[in-house]
Amino acid sequence: MINLVSDTVTQPTPEMLHAMMNAAVGDDVFKEDPTVNALQEKAAAMFGMEAALFCPSGTMTNQIGIKVHTRPLDELICDELSHVYQSEVGGYAFHSGLAVKLLPGVNGKINAEQIEKAIKPDYDWMPKSRLVVLENTCNIGGGAYYTKEEIRPIAELCKAKGLSLHLDGARIFNALVESGDTPQEMGALFDSISICLSKGLGAPVGSLLLGSQPFIKEARRVRKAMGGGMRQAGYLAAAGIYALDHHIERLKIDNNRAKELGKALASVSVVENIRPVYSNIVFFDVKAPMNAPQFLEILLSKGIKATSFGPETLRFVTHLDYTEAMHQKVLSALAEI
Ligand SMILES: *Cc1c(COP(=O)(O)O)cnc(C)c1O
Repeated sequence: MINLVSDTVTQPTPEMLHAMMNAAVGDDVFKEDPTVNALQEKAAAMFGMEAALFCPSGTMTNQIGIKVHTRPLDELICDELSHVYQSEVGGYAFHSGLAVKLLPGVNGKINAEQIEKAIKPDYDWMPKSRLVVLENTCNIGGGAYYTKEEIRPIAELCKAKGLSLHLDGARIFNALVESGDTPQEMGALFDSISICLSKGLGAPVGSLLLGSQPFIKEARRVRKAMGGGMRQAGYLAAAGIYALDHHIERLKIDNNRAKELGKALASVSVVENIRPVYSNIVFFDVKAPMNAPQFLEILLSKGIKATSFGPETLRFVTHLDYTEAMHQKVLSALAEI
């Protein structure tokens, strides 16, 4: 079966497993896991941030980030398609007691002008605008990415207005291999960054939250309160170190294959409205009387698994375990539909 459901479906490579099995470990709640410490230091240095925190998931790193930046009765500003709003169970309300201001962006991307208009005046009866969250790449936005030039005015606005700026960088490296921007340039623009090791980077588990020393000190406390303090987590962190060393540059391959899938879909007669492909995500619609569940069945009959978003919309995501041979099979299969 060829799996295009998500870039989370990857299995650790033999080399990654080898690194995991040979990791030196300790109790990370006492900060005594050398491999977790090494991963945190490596990631922080990469982005030019002071410190990092290893967590079980990207939902946790986002939610801890949101919690540390805000107080109850504050408001979070983000795109209406963003993961922190759509796919984290309303955690901003549950963990942090926040209101949310949703902005209609373009492909999941918002701009400084929109954000400035959304910032609330300082009235007793209004939630206090406190935090902006950007997503790069934008998942439901079709994998679109922000460049540093697009983020800079937002960062300047946030600084001027006293708002914090958090990046949900679940797929930040898929963005950086396209834009040519560097992790350090991203680090300089945000107060905190969440990166996922278990998406395109191919690690089995784990995300990192990056920020200043005092921010990460508080984040550690919140992680513990959420039950995310892990013990010999170095076995997992070793996979993360391996991924950061070996699986970043190859994301360009995933992005290119996704672009080729987008092109191949253009000649499938029942397909329409293929969104521009920016990175490793392809969104498209099927035409009535065909619907998404039927199209998924056809794909399944050809050995291809994908996923739907609504009655006519489907998504492909390319990843480390989607090989060139599989890619050629999918291109041929699409040509037959
Ligand atoms: C996957 C993802 C996350 C984090 O998801 P987890 O499954 O909790 O690791 C966060 N943001 C975006 C945009 C994602 O795609």
